[in-house]
Amino acid sequence: MTQRIAIKGVTLIDGNGEDPLKRGVVIIEGSTIQGIGHESEINLADDVQVIDASGTTVMPGIIDAHVHLGGASYKEEENWVIENDTYQAISSVGQANKMLRYGITSVRDISVNGPHLRKAIMERFIDGPRIVPTWRGLSRRGGHGDAGGVSPEMVRTSHPWGIVADGVDEVRKITREIIKNGSHGIKVWASGGGLHENEPSDAQHYSFEELKVMVEEANYARIPLLAHCECASAARDAVMAGAWSIEHGEELDEETIHMMAQKGVSLVPTLFLLNQWFEWSGDGGFYGTPFVPGGGDDLPSDKESLRPILWERLSSNLMAAKAAGVRIGLGSDSFCNEITPYGEQSLNELKALVEYGMSSMEAIVAATKNGSEILKIDDITGTLEIGKSADLIILQNNPLDDINFVSESGMLAIMKEGKFIKNLIN
Ligand SMILES: [Zn+2]
Repeated sequence: MTQRIAIKGVTLIDGNGEDPLKRGVVIIEGSTIQGIGHESEINLADDVQVIDASGTTVMPGIIDAHVHLGGASYKEEENWVIENDTYQAISSVGQANKMLRYGITSVRDISVNGPHLRKAIMERFIDGPRIVPTWRGLSRRGGHGDAGGVSPEMVRTSHPWGIVADGVDEVRKITREIIKNGSHGIKVWASGGGLHENEPSDAQHYSFEELKVMVEEANYARIPLLAHCECASAARDAVMAGAWSIEHGEELDEETIHMMAQKGVSLVPTLFLLNQWFEWSGDGGFYGTPFVPGGGDDLPSDKESLRPILWERLSSNLMAAKAAGVRIGLGSDSFCNEITPYGEQSLNELKALVEYGMSSMEAIVAATKNGSEILKIDDITGTLEIGKSADLIILQNNPLDDINFVSESGMLAIMKEGKFIKNLIN
């Protein structure tokens, strides 16, 4: 018999952005939400197992639109490649599992492990978030998805999330190879990312013609292009070429923001990561030079003076995109155990969205409904509605009062597809 559960007495945030419903009930049958509403309108059948969660808040499980479950332990690009592939594959199971234990119930993964994790999780062989895999992403030689100091042969076989392709012909071939490997999206590093001085973040890395070919090939497989763009020109060309989402996108010009809003192109801003990256760069750091989007000759050179400028530019870019009506999602960009702890990093990004100017409700919508649309799984999950997957978290306190309440210790229960991953209520 299918299990039926009713969670009652809760404040309901359904992910659609409307005011929360007090004294709500959610009914779950098997893996699906079968009823939702105010307790006065819901009749509980005798065979329903009632969970009294009075005083708590229920919201959809969190969706992380940008993560690398590559299994990498360390921060250095050489080590991403050199670390044993089998160890990384095994480790990726732990990374996925940890994300789920922080309430992240769906992710878009850019790594060689994604298609396999997806299968093992769908077969309920291991616990992890629902995975929308992109397999490896395209990088120019020497770009952000290549690895300096390691032979091209090793990068080809063992880079956990990058694959090198130069020129339209090779780009076409590699895009087809990515699709062959079970990808549900094509990831490209359309700009640099500041790993070292030869690939600054504000340098465009693929031409408009190359980006066009990726979109053309992605269209043949009916999958979207997601483009890492840290400079205005890369973002503009990616959007014009037909990208579905801009990753990072911390320097968008007015024209690009307008196009994004018109064409329904999403932004996954990764604010927490961009701040970390700034701190990890420059003197005593291990990545490139401190990067402030938009640059400028009059910028101070010391990090102390640059920090508030970075904050101001990230915030105004995000607010401009929001004001124009661009769909904004949550992306943690977790890529290794050492410096971007899985799960925790996603919750930190949720807080960052608020710190940089969104309301708590807007950040929650970004992390739920918008995420499901960006991942193209909004028919399955992302909001608490009848017929959708029972992917939800139960919080001790209402996150609309303080977004910090969305924390691991504040999550009394986590449910994915009707199955409790954690339940401290009863
Ligand atoms: Zn990334």
